[in-house]
Amino acid sequence: MTNLLLAAVLAATFTTNQGKAVQLTFPNEAGVRSIEMKWQGKTVPFVLLKDSWITVVGVDLDIKPGDHPGDVLVTRADGRMETRSTTIRVESTNFPTTELQVEERFVQLNPADQTRSGREAQEISKIFGVVTPEILWDKPFSAPIPGGRGANFGHRRVFNGEPRAPHNGADLRAQTGTPIRSTNRGRVVMAKNLFFTGNTVIVDHGLGIYSLYAHLSRIDARLNAIIENGQQVGLAGATGRVTGPHLHWGIRVQGARVDPFSLVNMASSSLGAN
Ligand SMILES: [Zn+2]
Repeated sequence: MTNLLLAAVLAATFTTNQGKAVQLTFPNEAGVRSIEMKWQGKTVPFVLLKDSWITVVGVDLDIKPGDHPGDVLVTRADGRMETRSTTIRVESTNFPTTELQVEERFVQLNPADQTRSGREAQEISKIFGVVTPEILWDKPFSAPIPGGRGANFGHRRVFNGEPRAPHNGADLRAQTGTPIRSTNRGRVVMAKNLFFTGNTVIVDHGLGIYSLYAHLSRIDARLNAIIENGQQVGLAGATGRVTGPHLHWGIRVQGARVDPFSLVNMASSSLGAN
């Protein structure tokens, strides 16, 4: 019998760019029970949709360009395991630098705010470290403001003259009060006020994919509730570290900071095939 899947894994080199979500697909074959991939120190499960095994891998905006090998582990129904190596080839992205002016208290933090923002950063990174091993989404991913665009993902940023972390999301133009919609179905894992991102909602879509909506004037999502694709998470606003009202929309994939629109533009319709 031809070993379609293993042949496909052997032949696979996936080419992408820094700061992208990339979909990996292998054909199913009889007797395969599960597939997972170890890449960049993370374990990423595949799910069977129709006749293909698929997953989405996050390529962080600061990963070194070049070939990054990974191991694909195939477990058969009889318990046999086979490992094959595959490669994700990462090309560099040219991220521009932007200078921004914000309230000084968001650049030179007082001790209380420093403690608070440090605690919140830990809380968030703990959330992003969890890979829910199933798909919670049920449609293709869509922008939280219909037709919305934001081109400043990955920009190197200088706040009031001080270099800070790169921009890890996309900023979408929005007046205060604009309805913000969940990019897909998922579970609400955070809904509260944070120092830098203001009123913030985080949704777990499964397989390590999280969406984050920041600077909201009002939160409508309820912690631990399932939210549907297109359901309102809140209203746009200007809470936290901002230059004015807008939506900051972030996507993490297994902790990697990726351009949210790389998920929206993902070619395969299989992403919505639940
Ligand atoms: Zn932003």
